[in-house]
Amino acid sequence: MNEAVAAPFACRAKDYKSDLKPVWCPGCGDFGVLNAITKALSGLKLPPEQVALISGIGCSSRIPAYTRVYGFHGVHGRALPVATGLAVARPDLTVLAAGGDGDGLSIGGNHFLHACRRNTDLTYLFMDNAVYGMTKGQPSPTTELGWEGSRLAPEGQLQEPLRPLDLALAAGASFIARCFSGDPNGLAEMIAKGIEHPGFAFIQILSPCPTYRPEQMQYKRQVHTGFETTDKPREAGLQLLDDDGFTTGLLLRRPVPLLAEAPGESVDLDSIQQKFRVTP
Ligand code: SF4
Ligand code: MG
Repeated sequence: MNEAVAAPFACRAKDYKSDLKPVWCPGCGDFGVLNAITKALSGLKLPPEQVALISGIGCSSRIPAYTRVYGFHGVHGRALPVATGLAVARPDLTVLAAGGDGDGLSIGGNHFLHACRRNTDLTYLFMDNAVYGMTKGQPSPTTELGWEGSRLAPEGQLQEPLRPLDLALAAGASFIARCFSGDPNGLAEMIAKGIEHPGFAFIQILSPCPTYRPEQMQYKRQVHTGFETTDKPREAGLQLLDDDGFTTGLLLRRPVPLLAEAPGESVDLDSIQQKFRVTP
């Protein structure tokens, strides 16, 4: 007998990357996010077959293909409902959702609000560059008022941007943080904290798009620490009143019952399937 024995998975960060070469533009912040995800999984020594990374559509939503964990590159704006269903049906898995600001707060905005209030056990990596990158640079829901960098919006951005952390707080999220893709070590630590948090962990990641927002290459000079972690939504709200959009850190972490633990709720998959089974 000369059977080859597979070597145990080494859990090095590079072992979580696939052989596919990312098609992102040089300098795209999404490279840093990919590095941070693999560092976080490596630090937690999670076997790839116990992790699922779910995305929607957009440049950043390509990210599952560049990892070796289970992935689902889904429909625009629908990463969170898919991830929520998976987290409920397979609580043994570590579930991550990832996507951009257009995907997450435009067509996916409704799903975002309800994911915050449902508090299923998953981590949402919101990769924010305040632009629709994949479709050539239109203003997105987080683009600042007055931005005139897009030929596709000749009168400039005419609306105030949504504030993702404020939305998450108002919708009842139990874990709210902001990080910078240019700090993959700090981001990896935050992703690990999000994974370990028993509930919905929301991490806004400032992730520059040098192609359509070259001025975002200044983010490294603009970001600064400042959030003081609290478990009180009121204190988190007061900090957000003074937030310039570049404050980083873990803002809020508080214990909230999971959807699966809520009184009167049933997430027993067998009983749900039984209920909807069609008998001939
Ligand atoms: Fe990244 Fe922007 Fe290029 Fe998309 S268009 S890959 S977001 S730099
Ligand atoms: Mg975007």
